[in-house]
Amino acid sequence: RGGPENLPILTDHLDTFDNPAKEQLRRKPHLVVLGSGWGAVGMLGNLDKNDYDVTVISPTNYFLFTPMLPSAAVGTLELKSLMESIRHIVRRVNGHYLEASAEKVLFSEKLIKVRVKGSGQEFYVPYDKLVIAVGSTANTHGVKGLQYSNQLKIAEDAMEIRRKIVTNLETACLPTTSDEERKKLLSFVICGAGPTGVEMAAEIFDLMNEDLTRSFPKILRQEISIHIIQSRSHILNTYDKTISEFAMGRFEHDQIDLLTNSRVREILPDQVIFDQKNSDGTLETKSVPFGLCLWSTGVAQNPLAQQVVKDLSAYQKNKRAIETDAQLRVLGAPLGDVYAIGDCSTVRTELAEHCSDYVRKYIIGSQSPQFVKSRHIITDDDIKHVDLTYFELKQLCNQISQQNPLAAGPLGLVEELIPKYDAEKRGRLTFDQVKLLMKEVDSKVTSLPATAQRANQQGKYMGKKLSKLRKSSTTLSINDIVDGDIDNAIARPFKYKHLGSLAYIGNSAVFDLPGYSFVGGLIAVYLWRSIYFAQSVSFRTRVLLFMDWLNRGIFGRDILT
Ligand code: FAD
Ligand code: MG
Ligand code: MG
Ligand code: MG
Ligand code: MG
Repeated sequence: RGGPENLPILTDHLDTFDNPAKEQLRRKPHLVVLGSGWGAVGMLGNLDKNDYDVTVISPTNYFLFTPMLPSAAVGTLELKSLMESIRHIVRRVNGHYLEASAEKVLFSEKLIKVRVKGSGQEFYVPYDKLVIAVGSTANTHGVKGLQYSNQLKIAEDAMEIRRKIVTNLETACLPTTSDEERKKLLSFVICGAGPTGVEMAAEIFDLMNEDLTRSFPKILRQEISIHIIQSRSHILNTYDKTISEFAMGRFEHDQIDLLTNSRVREILPDQVIFDQKNSDGTLETKSVPFGLCLWSTGVAQNPLAQQVVKDLSAYQKNKRAIETDAQLRVLGAPLGDVYAIGDCSTVRTELAEHCSDYVRKYIIGSQSPQFVKSRHIITDDDIKHVDLTYFELKQLCNQISQQNPLAAGPLGLVEELIPKYDAEKRGRLTFDQVKLLMKEVDSKVTSLPATAQRANQQGKYMGKKLSKLRKSSTTLSINDIVDGDIDNAIARPFKYKHLGSLAYIGNSAVFDLPGYSFVGGLIAVYLWRSIYFAQSVSFRTRVLLFMDWLNRGIFGRDILT
């Protein structure tokens, strides 16, 4: 026992001594991973085995292929084809799994306070390295009555939606059901028109048109309605405009009721109350009855992430995510102990804050005659008195973008901004002016998207880096490590590569790839996704998915469970 609350401290796992491979790892550094989603699994797949004694802690004992969850919710795919046991994934690195939730991180004691799902019992897990990948939760926007709606985040959610659709369909067929009641049972309301909401609407539409009439009375088809409530004027508004418009056109054609400029006010047991903005700007309160209401209006911060931000509040300034540096290290935690990846995290560039460090580095490396003389004795005062030409500024920016790949975009456009800060038109900027310029660049850095793509890339990056850290601990010389920053000595900062987005809209897919957007067929969706999936999980799931598609092609959707 120990720690501030005198709770039991985990020393050995139950499976350590019956497994020679695991017993050997006992003396290796303890790497603890919080979460079993995209970020965590991306990391575990890229970690060399036998580098660390790995423990994964997560309340969900499976990895979920979320992009295809809407398909599972209507029976196009089997849920189990989208799930992979986390124990299976952990086995590769001879690691351990604990089904529990992390409650708090004690940074100075290097302990994680963990709570058991059912019993609520608590204990500590010690770590040497910690990776936080706890994801996000659904955004409630403070709306009342969410308990009457369904969410789509975990496997159980998809199962519940599927069950509800079947129950409503069966009830709609009973002689005791009135016409009005039947219409309500067959009304689907989707709150939020991001990718999840849009795909759910498309899947429900296809189900009703393709498979329903085979086994249910044809009359039901006329009574089904699908409504999407969206606060903005467009759907899929994180996508390219052509895609958003294509999707809207498609839905109009399919007679899906798009309620744009509408804000949900409250959800009652069988209807949604919302305010719709008219073209003259006035608000009108309306309601729409439902048999199934899906709440998919975006993401909010996970409770553990909230706790971390609170505990490190002197350093953490973002209210929505854990902030890390470019090496994905949590700001405010001891350097190199704690990392955060995926939806729960964001990378802060802080160019203005670190401006003097960057200028110092630039001066040291510069060939400019202005600096060559003073290269070895650069005081803070020297830095405050620098006066950089436009050319030198560009060099400085190039150098900064090497260390901050996420700021590379705005830094590349800095040439247009420079004259604005050169108030006296001298062709040069003083240090204070450079700092102001960097502040503007900081504000132009777009935050990373909350997507599987991003979480997966960060996971891969972390896995590779952590293995590299183990191997380099013996080969690095003291000169390689500047300011005790081992991460920077061995690895480049994380760089996000946007591979495009994709949404499925009624038997066709819209792609939003870097540089161009296009519309393709259903096969393209599955291909694109299964390639992605194959990389992340196992052969088993690939086989299952393939059989699902074959099965659906021949026999239609399985809506009976
Ligand atoms: P997650 O994958 O959510 O994993 C978080 C993990 O942490 C979970 O295992 C959870 O159980 C665990 N956890 C939570 N709290 C704790 C705690 N206190 N202690 C320990 N463990 C904890 N993205 C795309 O790029 N393309 C898509 O097409 C796409 N479609 C989507 C469709 C749906 C229906 C949904 C829900 C999401 C979709 N996403 C898509 C988004 C994508 O799933 C997320 O961005 C991604 O899962 C983020 O990965 P993560 O590792 O950060 O979090
Ligand atoms: Mg994760
Ligand atoms: Mg997920
Ligand atoms: Mg996941
Ligand atoms: Mg995460």
